[in-house]
Amino acid sequence: MQESVMQRMWNSAHLSGGNAAYVEELYELYLHDPNAVPEEWRTYFQKLPTDGNAATDVSHSTVRDHFVLLAKNQRRAQPVSAGSVSTEHEKKQVEVLRLIQAYRMRGHQASRLDPLGLWQRPEPADLAISHYNLTNADLDTTFRTGELYIGKEEATLRDIHQALQQTYCRTIGAEFTHIVDSEQRKWFQQRLESVRGRPVYSADVQSHLLERLTAAEGLEKYLGTKYPGTKRFGLEGGESLIPLLDEVIQRSGSYGTKEVVIGMAHRGRLNVLVNTFGKNPRDLFDEFEGKKVEGLSSGDVKYHQGFSSNVMTSGGEVHLALAFNPSHLEIVSPVVEGSVRARQDRRRDPVGDSVLPVSIHGDAAFAGQGVVMETFQMSQTRGYKTGGTIHIVINNQVGFTTSRPEDARSTEYCTDVAKMIQAPILHVNGDDPEAVLFVTQLAIDYRMQFKRDVVIDLVCYRRRGHNEADEPSGTQPLMYQQIGKQRTTRELYADALTQGSVLDVERVQAKVDEYRTALDNGLHVVKSLVKEPNKELFVDWRPYLGHTWTARHDTRFDLKTLQELSNKLLQVPEGFVVQRQVSKIIEDRQKMSAGGLPINWGYAETMAYATLLFEGHPIRITGQDVGRGTFSHRHAVLHNQKDAGTYIPLQKMFDGQPNFDLYDSLLSEEAVLAFEYGYSTTEPNALVIWEAQFGDFANGAQVVVDQFITSGENKWGRLCGLTMLLPHGYEGQGPEHSSARLERYLQLCAEHNIQVCVPTTPAQIYHLLRRQVIRPLRKPLVVLTPKSLLRHKLAISSLEDLADGSFQTVIPEIDSLVPEKVERLVLCSGKVYYDLLEKRRTEGREDIAIVRIEQLYPFPEDDLAEVLSAYTNLKHIVWCQEEPMNQGAWYCSQHHMRRVAIAHKKDLFLEYAGRDASAAPACGYASMHAEQQEKLLQDAFTV
Ligand code: AMP
Repeated sequence: MQESVMQRMWNSAHLSGGNAAYVEELYELYLHDPNAVPEEWRTYFQKLPTDGNAATDVSHSTVRDHFVLLAKNQRRAQPVSAGSVSTEHEKKQVEVLRLIQAYRMRGHQASRLDPLGLWQRPEPADLAISHYNLTNADLDTTFRTGELYIGKEEATLRDIHQALQQTYCRTIGAEFTHIVDSEQRKWFQQRLESVRGRPVYSADVQSHLLERLTAAEGLEKYLGTKYPGTKRFGLEGGESLIPLLDEVIQRSGSYGTKEVVIGMAHRGRLNVLVNTFGKNPRDLFDEFEGKKVEGLSSGDVKYHQGFSSNVMTSGGEVHLALAFNPSHLEIVSPVVEGSVRARQDRRRDPVGDSVLPVSIHGDAAFAGQGVVMETFQMSQTRGYKTGGTIHIVINNQVGFTTSRPEDARSTEYCTDVAKMIQAPILHVNGDDPEAVLFVTQLAIDYRMQFKRDVVIDLVCYRRRGHNEADEPSGTQPLMYQQIGKQRTTRELYADALTQGSVLDVERVQAKVDEYRTALDNGLHVVKSLVKEPNKELFVDWRPYLGHTWTARHDTRFDLKTLQELSNKLLQVPEGFVVQRQVSKIIEDRQKMSAGGLPINWGYAETMAYATLLFEGHPIRITGQDVGRGTFSHRHAVLHNQKDAGTYIPLQKMFDGQPNFDLYDSLLSEEAVLAFEYGYSTTEPNALVIWEAQFGDFANGAQVVVDQFITSGENKWGRLCGLTMLLPHGYEGQGPEHSSARLERYLQLCAEHNIQVCVPTTPAQIYHLLRRQVIRPLRKPLVVLTPKSLLRHKLAISSLEDLADGSFQTVIPEIDSLVPEKVERLVLCSGKVYYDLLEKRRTEGREDIAIVRIEQLYPFPEDDLAEVLSAYTNLKHIVWCQEEPMNQGAWYCSQHHMRRVAIAHKKDLFLEYAGRDASAAPACGYASMHAEQQEKLLQDAFTV
């Protein structure tokens, strides 16, 4: 029987000399990767005594001493063997193991990734055998292979080195050794090394690859000829994307995936629409010819369009959805994640196998835009995970906005950001379609097994300019000289297949001709397309379509059932110890439920959720600190003071109730809001809420507001019922915590695109939230929510207000003034109402009525006119706001108020009472704030 290295060393006379150093080196290697050392050594190192801290890191002297001691004891116990080990060989053995490890870590830096062959990367020094004091003379020496998966335990250095070169340094550059979990690292080693980075594919597979490349190239050529110079952001140079996507869909389908949702920017999008989604080429040609889509007031350019279709895979029919996207590149990724999560939730799939997210990125945007990082950060969190995303970077090596990579990023690769979540990154040369196929298979298999994100970096080039009207050689002369000489991916692969006798030249040409004929005839070109799609695979939006704007909707709810639900919510499980202040809130809510206390905001809001769940609507609430509520009014999550366990009463109302999902979000606004947009445009039946900690934090998500929430329906016909809760109110907290920037939302209002509301009573928020879901109209709702009003003694409602009331767009004067005596009407929204009311009551003024406008958009002109009609002796009408004149509702809403005022009485001129125009939203000094507040109230009564 062969002696193990370890046994031989036990017996060696030279143990305390060279072998001790060998052990140290092995230990180094083990620390880096436990799987890199033979099993017997791994077991030995694992059992080493530790100093109590890190179990893995023991001092080197301890390792050495321990080993020497063990060896002495061992030698005492057994006679020295005759065949003692060659110390020199063992040293080299260690070096060979280090060499193997170096290839796994850095082989990608020596791989041939650039199809243009222009990259000049210095060969990493530690990939040369000389780096390990090995020479050509050692090439024929046999060494143990450690856990190199090449099918044999021992091999010559020559074989080992060749296997490493083939596996790690051909047209795939795999980065996976940054993954801490050794099972995942081992998985990659095994998958890559066992086929030396290149499986052998059948002729059928090869022929299919060529067919897909032919389609990719054929479409661009066709469009280029038919519509020369028209912008299409062609895929030329990156044609391998099409076979890549084909494999993503087919392989995930074979795993039983039911839906694949894809997000991508404009590059190659038309190609994906026609060649992956099966969009009818004739429809695309219509778009080139400028045909409008009926029913959309704005519409969008053709390379922003989404699409839906079903295709057949070996695992059954799969629904495909391509997300609509704006030009703001990476922002579509979190939208896709939200859409996928909604679909997974609908399918009650917490693992994520049933729906696969795919994000296609450009190299420059992937490296440059912060939302990429935010989206990665979401990927494993409870509220946002989707079981792993397939990221594909169309790395054409040029960002439109920079000519040189060194201006575009500080990282080695454009994909380095993905390492923050230890995502494996598979770089691949786009001119090697079989390598592209292999990394795609790896990516899907990895995602399905480990439920984590994985990145494919498709290194390709851009044959033309940024668009078809752009001449690139002005800024990239050398690259475009090479591109001018470069044969296409399809041509190169067709040559390879004809030379390998897989296909003959005639068959290759036939594929080209068949594709062109299909386009000429306007036929679908995706063979797997299902012409009669199974509609059960996606949501039926018909109940929500075609509704015109209505402010009113019956949102009443039976009082007795409301009280029963409330009592249920206020029961805390046996042994659950609630914190003192929270306990007081529960006690108060019990009294509110019994009618013994007026109800407050927290109670009313909670009951809106409870009643909606009761009526069958799922609810999802996310945002910063939403469980408690930034101002501690919500307490939707109870925390056990004994063991920190949590209890969410709204999840435990009755068996089979709809989902109530509530998650404190990661500290992101942009990606989180985009996620919720994606969620709500996919799940029409749910109340989907995002809450900002303070309203102005939504500034960090401005792209989502502008490009999706306020304009998505008019550009793309995609309805969205998302609700944004934005705390707003001038309470002397300084420039950054006062304003939710109401003016921004109002400025974006047109064509009934969104609703902007400022409710001031508990009953108002209750009916507003209920209206948002019960009414079949799906429109984004922006709510400016209160801070101090949450506990204001006057901001209260009654149970009857909840049971019988409705949302009022305008709340008339509440005190019983004699209308004929009223000469001044003060209009306002939000918290300032209570300041005005208290002042009016204190001063005993009966000539001033105060009217609240609770919905600023769509502006309720008719409702306001009706309220005004009672006041026949009006001399003044004033708009009062806390915000500075250049902010708040003044500029954007005054024309509505003026119109109503003038219609009421010809010479009634709308006046302004509020802060002076200001660069900052609010002042930073409490005394200045108080002075300003005092003045604006005074102005409201006197201007
Ligand atoms: P999807 O699952 O996203 O592919 O959507 C399937 C179909 O549902 C689409 O083709 C649309 O007809 C419709 N649909 C999806 N989302 C929306 C939406 N937000 N608003 C209106 N219709 C939608």
